[in-house]
Amino acid sequence: MEKIAPPKYVMRILTTLRARGYPTYLVGGCVRDMLLGARPQDWDLCTGALPEQVLELFPGSVPTGLKHGTVTVRLGSGKAEVTTFRTEGGYADHRHPDSVAFVSDLRSDLSRRDFTMNAVALSGEGLLIDPFGGAEDIRARLVRCVGLPERRFEEDALRMFRALRFSARLGFAVEAGTWEALLHKAPLASELAPERIRDELEKTLLSQAPELVCRFFTTGLMAAFARPPQAGEESFRPLGKLPKKAGVRWAGLCALLLDQGCVDAAEGFLDALRLDKRTVSLSCRTVRLLASPLPASSVEWKRLLHAEGTDCAAWTAACADTFFGGGHSRALKAVLRSGDCFSLKHLAVSGEDLLALGLRGPELGRTLEGLLEHVIEHPADNRRERLLALAGGEGQEGLWTAGKS
Ligand code: ATP
Ligand code: MG
Repeated sequence: MEKIAPPKYVMRILTTLRARGYPTYLVGGCVRDMLLGARPQDWDLCTGALPEQVLELFPGSVPTGLKHGTVTVRLGSGKAEVTTFRTEGGYADHRHPDSVAFVSDLRSDLSRRDFTMNAVALSGEGLLIDPFGGAEDIRARLVRCVGLPERRFEEDALRMFRALRFSARLGFAVEAGTWEALLHKAPLASELAPERIRDELEKTLLSQAPELVCRFFTTGLMAAFARPPQAGEESFRPLGKLPKKAGVRWAGLCALLLDQGCVDAAEGFLDALRLDKRTVSLSCRTVRLLASPLPASSVEWKRLLHAEGTDCAAWTAACADTFFGGGHSRALKAVLRSGDCFSLKHLAVSGEDLLALGLRGPELGRTLEGLLEHVIEHPADNRRERLLALAGGEGQEGLWTAGKS
């Protein structure tokens, strides 16, 4: 296993705080990832120093979450989150702690963390502090709550989503007691902000096992958004073959949920989860296109490109390849590479040209569309003189001018 060492700037932050007498440790996900031999995505430190003391020691650092004691420290081009040891008290809303208290010891800080694998800390000398058996669970590849799972899920229902997300991302199983509690407490998910649910689903869709997104639906966590699927994980496996981009994976998920009767429309499902307008629109159009006959020639692809745009065509082709097979993306790429015109923007004549020919209003629009349709079928005709001749005008035979078509 590759041994991962923290970058120098992270060690400098740690030793600077230590030199001032503040106990400071690497903590959470970065320690977990180091134990797994994986390079951490970001670096978190926890410290006995108060946020103001951290800010004072590192000019240019930013108080990113003062209420929770978090300061983002920048050193050179690197940055790390430094959070004061804290405990949390009461979770009346199943989402946020009613109060946060800064404390002086690491153990209380670790005990508020969600899973044993995340409740681990590493000292500057490389000593592992692991009061809840995190290293053992990492070896056994288990997601296990710190403390009583039911209580931990009652405190913060998002942890149930995080459990499934980490399980998919790391290839860990969910420990039996944690799984039982999740099934039991799933109804609390209805209290969470949809945006936070969306983010966990999206991370799972982009993980190494996106088919496990199925579990969000079968466990009841998504009851407010969709009916549970009848088929299992196997039917969600195609998601892993889609490009590793959030948008197209949301579209693929919608196609699967619609197919299994879990949702009535992609739009309602995605809107409820607060997906951005572009993803909603492209996903809805993609699933609609997937439900009708797909383009079978370059001309048909160009028509689709004109009607729906390049992104929608690409998502549709990728989903079609994944769900039905058949080289649709390859056919689409060939069309795009050919340089053939499929949009008014690339037509060799413009609206101005047709105005100059004396065309106006709807007639002008019809003529442009007619010219484009012609060029889609006869790419070699996308030349100005040829199109002007085809368009006609006063005194000329045109294909689409009133009374002549
Ligand atoms: P990632 O690699 O996805 O960033 P991470 O473990 O760093 O994984 P974060 O969401 O960045 O996850 O959170 C940092 C740490 O804060 C976690 O490792 C965990 O110890 C703690 N944590 C985050 N969210 C919660 C939560 N809802 N409940 C309890 N502890 C949490
Ligand atoms: Mg993190």
